[in-house]
Amino acid sequence: MTLSAESSRPIHATTSAAAPAAAASIGLGMPRIPSARNRLKDTPVIGHKRVLLAAPRGYCAGVDRAVIAVEKALDLYGAPVYVRKQIVHNTHVVSELEKKGAIFVDEVDEVPTGAHIVFSAHGVSPAVVNAAAARGLQAIDATCPLVTKVHREAVRFARDDFQILLIGHEGHEEVEGTAGEAPEHTTLVGSPDEADTIEVADPTKVVWLSQTTLSVDETMETVRRLRARFPLLQDPPSDDICYATQNRQVAIKKVAEDAELVIVVGSANSSNSVRLVEVALEYGASAAYRVDYASEVKQEWLDGVATVGVTSGASVPEELVEELLRDLADAGYGDVQQVKTAEEDLLFSLPKELRKDLAGKTDARALGGRIASND
Ligand code: SF4
Repeated sequence: MTLSAESSRPIHATTSAAAPAAAASIGLGMPRIPSARNRLKDTPVIGHKRVLLAAPRGYCAGVDRAVIAVEKALDLYGAPVYVRKQIVHNTHVVSELEKKGAIFVDEVDEVPTGAHIVFSAHGVSPAVVNAAAARGLQAIDATCPLVTKVHREAVRFARDDFQILLIGHEGHEEVEGTAGEAPEHTTLVGSPDEADTIEVADPTKVVWLSQTTLSVDETMETVRRLRARFPLLQDPPSDDICYATQNRQVAIKKVAEDAELVIVVGSANSSNSVRLVEVALEYGASAAYRVDYASEVKQEWLDGVATVGVTSGASVPEELVEELLRDLADAGYGDVQQVKTAEEDLLFSLPKELRKDLAGKTDARALGGRIASND
């Protein structure tokens, strides 16, 4: 396989005003994914076979931090460490952490009194924090700082007696956490169509906030329709859809202009991964599919396809993309051209509970060589 840079047009700033000081960070260090090599056949097509590989793709700063937080907790406290909900929405990441001793639970009442529990990157409501404290659990909050930013906005607008129109997907953990900050003040808006029908108590005191992983275009359409009904609707103080979601959507839009087929690596419950499939279809790909693993790619998807676009969601380790590229190379798509639309260098410090316990530790096993604390 060959790799060449096709585009380096900068589109988005890569950092957020909400970003805390940077932290050292490395990936999950997962074992190579086993796959049946030469499963995909090199069939003839018209034109030159190639892959357009979107960049940025894969791990964002919040996911990286959350995964390392679980690993560090296992190092520091020993197994098991409990994690409420999936630490990030990726099947492979969760399964690898389970092998290392993490136990994933739905609610805090499944965790033995006094045990360590990690809250996932998607955040939790104050009710969950309180329930964990009442049970005597030692909580490590791995909520992404960019989700925490939205929580703070919700608290502030609720305090000022605004009705918060929260654009997001019902049942998603992040939405439950944000809405839980101000349940009496929050109305969920699940789609542009819902914007046409929701009712507000006082149209002069409404603000919209959003889930961090939505489609930028669809969210703007929802806001447009809300504002048509409520002209005094306030905007969030800064973008709620995070830099990683935006950057991955911008990159796949560019790829989709030239790719007949787009393959997104990511799990079914990963909101930002599912959005990437939708965006690819919207921006020109004839077909787009999401897979957890390369082994899910079907031969018929490649029929007559010269250019395959590839990207991955914000919770996907790069090993999974590399495996897909190896399988595609077997099928004749060995020419990999990177389509880069932004640089990303944002990193977050570990959760404060871990930093406190790590402070002063010199034990190499606990530190693991990739510590991160400077705020
Ligand atoms: S997708 Fe965005 S909000 Fe979610 S963890 Fe990553 S950086 Fe944070």
